[in-house]
Amino acid sequence: MNKPRYFKEAFAQLKPYEPHLVPYEIKLDANENPYPFPKSLLEEIFTKIGAKDFPLYPDPLAGRLRFRLSEKLGVMPENIVLGNGSDELILCLYLAFGGTGRKALGFSPSFVMFWHHAFVTQTDYFEVSYRDDFGLDLEETKEAIKKYQPHLVFLANPNNPTGTLVDIETIEKLLAYDHLLVVDEAYVEFSGVSAIELLKEYQNLVILRTFSKARALAGLRLGYLVANVDVVKEIIKVKNPYNVNVFSQIAGEVVLANEEVFQGEIKEIVAEREKLYNQLASLGLKPVKSHANFILVEFGEKAKEIHQELINHGILVRYLGGALANYLRITVGTPEENRQLLKKLEEIL
Ligand code: PMP
Repeated sequence: MNKPRYFKEAFAQLKPYEPHLVPYEIKLDANENPYPFPKSLLEEIFTKIGAKDFPLYPDPLAGRLRFRLSEKLGVMPENIVLGNGSDELILCLYLAFGGTGRKALGFSPSFVMFWHHAFVTQTDYFEVSYRDDFGLDLEETKEAIKKYQPHLVFLANPNNPTGTLVDIETIEKLLAYDHLLVVDEAYVEFSGVSAIELLKEYQNLVILRTFSKARALAGLRLGYLVANVDVVKEIIKVKNPYNVNVFSQIAGEVVLANEEVFQGEIKEIVAEREKLYNQLASLGLKPVKSHANFILVEFGEKAKEIHQELINHGILVRYLGGALANYLRITVGTPEENRQLLKKLEEIL
C-alpha cells in the first residue's frame, strides 16, 4: 500500500537499530563494562549535582569536562566536542561533512552506525572488505579511495565486531589524501594503541572516543571527538545545542578525575580476554585475536542455534548474521561470567 507523500521512499527499507531485548542473567552482547559502577564515584556524582542544576539548561559545550579532557589529552579545549554518546557524533560528522552528493568510505565488517547514519543523511557509502583474516588490505583501500574520492573515511580501531587492530603506519598512509579520516577509538583502553598523536601533524584526522566501554558510562551516553579547530567548529554548527545533559557532564568529570579506579578493571578485562581466547580455542572453536573487550568467534553453521541455546540459559551474546552468520561476538565479562559462559558452551557443543 502506498504511504502518504510525506513519508520518505528511501527510508522504507531502513531498519531501526534494535538491540536484542530478551531476559538475561549474563549480558555479553553489547561490549559494556561488566563491573558495577564504583559506589564511591556514584556518591561523588550525586553530591556534585544539585537541585539548582535541574531547571537550567546544561553548558552547551560541556566547558568544564571539555577543559579536563583537553588537559588529559594534551590538546586545546577547542579541539574537543562532547556528544550524547559517540553515536551522536557519527551522525554530526555526516551532517557536517556528508549528505546528498557526498561520499563516505568504510570497511566491512564494521560498526553498523557508520553505514546507518550515512543512509539517514543520504550520504553515498562505499565499503572495502577486510581480508579473510580481518586485516586491512591497504592496496585495495587506496584503490577504493582513488575510485570513490570519499569526503569521509570511517575506521574503527580496534574494529567492532572483529577486535582487530590496524597499525599507526597504516593509519598515517590513509591520511595522505584530502578526505577526513575518522578513527573511532571506542575500545582504545583495551588496545593501548591510539592515533591521537597524529593530530599534531594531520588536519584531516578525527579521533572518536567514548565513556561507554572502559569508563562504564554507557547508560549516561557520553562520547567525544578530537580534531582540528576548524573541523570542531563545523560539528558545533550542526549538533543539538544541549546535547549532553548536566548529569552526564558531571559524571564524566568525576570519572576523569578518578581514572585510576578503572585501570584495574581494564587490566583484568584484558587478562580475561586472553584467557577466554585460549579457552574458546581449546573447545575447538576459532576465536579471532582481539585488541578490544570482546572476541569474535567462529562457531560454524550452528552459530545461530548456539546463540539461541545460550539465550535459553540466560546468556546473551551477539549474533551478527549476514557475512558473519557463522560467528558470534562475545563480550569479555567478569571472571565468573566467563566461567559460566564456558561451562554452558562445553555442555552445548
Ligand atoms: N563506535 C564503536 C566502534 C562502537 O562499537 C560503539 C558501541 N557499540 C560506538 C562507537 C558507540 O558508542 P557510544 O555508546 O559512545 O554511542
